Amino acid sequence: MPITLRGIDFLLTYNCPAQCPHCSYRSGPGRGGRLKPAEVERWLAQIAGHPLEWVLLFGGEPVIYLADLKAMIAAVRRHTRARPQVSTNGYWAHEPGIARDKLAQLQAAGLDCIRFSVDAFHGGFVPAARVALGVQTARALGYRTVGIDVQWVVSPDLDIPTNAATRRMIDALAGMVDLSGVEVTHSRTHPVGRAAERLPEILRAAGEMPAGRCHAEGLCVSPYYLGESLREPYAVEIHPDGTVNLCAGIALGNAHETPLLDALLLGYDYTKHPIIRTVVEGGPGALLAQAEARGYPGLPGYVDPCHLCYEARTYLHAHAPDLRPYLGPPHIYDRDR
Ligand code: SF4
Repeated sequence: MPITLRGIDFLLTYNCPAQCPHCSYRSGPGRGGRLKPAEVERWLAQIAGHPLEWVLLFGGEPVIYLADLKAMIAAVRRHTRARPQVSTNGYWAHEPGIARDKLAQLQAAGLDCIRFSVDAFHGGFVPAARVALGVQTARALGYRTVGIDVQWVVSPDLDIPTNAATRRMIDALAGMVDLSGVEVTHSRTHPVGRAAERLPEILRAAGEMPAGRCHAEGLCVSPYYLGESLREPYAVEIHPDGTVNLCAGIALGNAHETPLLDALLLGYDYTKHPIIRTVVEGGPGALLAQAEARGYPGLPGYVDPCHLCYEARTYLHAHAPDLRPYLGPPHIYDRDR
């Protein structure tokens, strides 16, 4: 089934002033990777016929490369009818003049939707006051959508210190800036990448880590920005090295090496991808069986099916060279990052 895109996500860089424990992309200071505006422009031109609704520009921290970001926003406006969106942690909004200058530059390039990440993880690096200044300034400039994205460990109802810290950060933000009219999105932290190491640690410390195989079952539903369904996805994500992902670390191919539309999107057939076929047809539990058949010893418990899926993939990436082309970029599986 060919992929018809409603959205596409460009990961500009893994560089980020923060190094959040829940980052699926293992971003942080000096982590490198840099998507070039000319590459994004070329890919956007190739997918101009798709009914694109959004183009998400994120990282790492995309505002680090402000000139590149502006060029990409302008390219989205030139080649598509989609709305460009920027996701940022707001580290740069430390002074009113600077916040206004950056947001005005992005707006002049064609941006009218900006989203700030707000939770205990980001809060360890970026104070709520900076997000408040960013939100306030974007609204004053007339941005059509100003949003905050909040991630919770398992769910907002789970009473553990990390979620309590997130709640305090939102309250602090609400005390500094009027949040009426701000789009607030709540989501569950995706235990993939660095989060796969840190979330079990957080849950175990809180006495909440599930034990046994109870979480081995279940079907895959990926986040909306990753196209929700591996069978018929409507969004893909492109990394700085050109890797095209559905879920983080599940590679369809490389956009640098193949014409994106023809070879990757139009040619998509989940039954031909050995990892995706297993997850679609049998759920993450089937991927566990596939890894066990190759010697994976398993863990005593998993946070949820995505954690299990990621751990099985990490084992396969290390021990099944025939599957490695389908699992990348490689650093997603590098526990030292
Ligand atoms: S089950 Fe696997 S492929 Fe599906 S969203 Fe979770 S981690 Fe991604």
